[in-house]
Amino acid sequence: MSDGTAGMREAESGDPGFVYRNGWTHFECGDCHEVIYDGRWISSEDTEELKRIHRAACTG
Ligand SMILES: [Zn+2]
Repeated sequence: MSDGTAGMREAESGDPGFVYRNGWTHFECGDCHEVIYDGRWISSEDTEELKRIHRAACTG
């Protein structure tokens, strides 16, 4: 089953309340529209680092 919330439920089961305390991070590449990250909250620094890594391999 994949309804887009499975990862969120999994994170909640591993650390109850984390998502509600900290939020959820989801972003896609602006060029190829691939989902770069979909998971528990990460900092803007980590977000930028993941985007930077993706751009090196991006085919979009
Ligand atoms: Zn891309």
